[in-house]
Amino acid sequence: MADRMLKFVHLPQQMPDKRDLGARRSDFDEIYARFDQKAAAAQASRCSQCGVPFCSVHCPLHNNIPDWLKLTAEGRLEEAYALSSATNNFPEICGRICPQDRLCEGNCVIEKGFESVTIGAVERYITDTAFAEGWVAPRRPRHERGLSVGIIGAGPAGLAAAEELRARGYGVHVYDRHDRVGGLMIYGIPNFKLEKEIVLRRWRLLEAAGIEFHTKVAVGRDLAFADLRARHAAILIATGVYQPREIAGPGAGLAGIVPALDYLITANRRGLGDDVPDFTSGALDAAGKRVVVIGGGDTAMDCVRTAVRQGARSVQCLYRRDRANMPGSLREVKNAEEEGVEFVWLSAPEAFLGEGTVTGVRATRMRLGLPDASGRQSVEPVAGSHFTVPADLVIKALGFDPEPLPAAFGEPGLEVTRHGTLRIQPRDFMTSLSGVFAAGDIVRGASLVVWAIRDGRDAAARMHAWIEQQAISREAAE
Ligand code: FAD
Ligand code: SF4
Ligand code: SF4
Repeated sequence: MADRMLKFVHLPQQMPDKRDLGARRSDFDEIYARFDQKAAAAQASRCSQCGVPFCSVHCPLHNNIPDWLKLTAEGRLEEAYALSSATNNFPEICGRICPQDRLCEGNCVIEKGFESVTIGAVERYITDTAFAEGWVAPRRPRHERGLSVGIIGAGPAGLAAAEELRARGYGVHVYDRHDRVGGLMIYGIPNFKLEKEIVLRRWRLLEAAGIEFHTKVAVGRDLAFADLRARHAAILIATGVYQPREIAGPGAGLAGIVPALDYLITANRRGLGDDVPDFTSGALDAAGKRVVVIGGGDTAMDCVRTAVRQGARSVQCLYRRDRANMPGSLREVKNAEEEGVEFVWLSAPEAFLGEGTVTGVRATRMRLGLPDASGRQSVEPVAGSHFTVPADLVIKALGFDPEPLPAAFGEPGLEVTRHGTLRIQPRDFMTSLSGVFAAGDIVRGASLVVWAIRDGRDAAARMHAWIEQQAISREAAE
């Protein structure tokens, strides 16, 4: 092994090249080039094959990272793909958009003295190669059980659960209010991080496995939740969180102040070739505008970078903490800065200026205070530190809360936590309603794709166990 692996001492870390900045700023294609086989094998060979691999421990899916790195270094890519896809339904997606600096790579033990193994880029390379070589097949079941399950929400949690349950022989019906499958992977996350064809390709594969998708069906509006329960042996709720957190203050209702997701959905729809009136009218188009984005998470980063690509005159991001305390991935901040975004750290909006339409944001400087109970430093305004930022388009990216599902589904018995997320039994993923399970952001609050996949897989296993147990109980009673 030693001759093939442990190369980190001599071989420096190399990420796939980023595309030329000029091209990057003017189109929506992914910014990273792909590894070729030589580069992937070389980078994989830097792994020191730890006995206790902290990379795997900190990957929410506990991917078998050292083993698929070794197989890649040896050029055994089909085996690497088999291993990587055994624990992850969408490795090519995680390889692209996981915040690896906070998960696997951030915990790679060679990180301290040497830069980490480029785990995400290798994971992406393995699965892209598997697709190109035709190794990725739909997971059709060996036998049909004659029972069906209903899944509400076609985001990563719903899709991962759907694939797992279909492979176990269930008839799987996925209901989504959108016209396309993928949840935030199709309409939230921009193309320059995750090309839409990657998501659409998965949709085709899941259909080929026999999963039935019912798009443009909003449960609670077009289809009663109670009817759905009557139709299927078990239900999974994987509806995500979509209610935007609002900004208060004078002028907050002016035209030109828009929610982040409206802006991103419109941009993604445009990229997919849809005709979107709000874009055509200019309301959600940043071209030629002075854009101010408020927030410091992944959504804010996606908005600023989308605005650059749409040809904004200037793009500024106001965030009330500093760079070290922002929730978004630092890799994405760096990408945004390279692309010309100006970050105005330690600043918060107080009021929005303009007659009818926004023309500026009055902001105040903030300073970091003492850590609160969670260990996070509090923020407080600096007296008399107001300043004004001119703006033609203000995008609110302050995070999301769950929609009130018990009301939307007409099910007052569906218990929620004080945050509005669904309450589940942590071990069995079941909500307060018998046979109704839940997974993903609607349980965790706004989180990550990789956690949604993990929850979807775990929930599927628990749904299967529960359905089997029900059958055993019925037989015993007869
Ligand atoms: P979602 O992906 O939200 O899917 C829920 C689905 O349920 C949607 O398709 C919705 O239409 C459907 N639905 C909702 N209500 C109903 C109903 N009543 N009837 C029928 N269908 C319904 N994570 C990362 O890991 N990396 C990133 O780079 C990243 N970037 C992000 C950028 C943005 C702009 C946003 C908003 C999020 C980002 N995330 C990122 C977070 C990630 O997208 C989510 O954590 C993940 O998609 C949650 O998966 P989910 O399946 O729980 O829900
Ligand atoms: Fe890293 Fe995400 Fe892949 Fe896990 S799934 S190995 S955290 S990139
Ligand atoms: Fe390899 Fe780093 Fe994981 Fe260790 S922690 S097994 S060096 S990738």
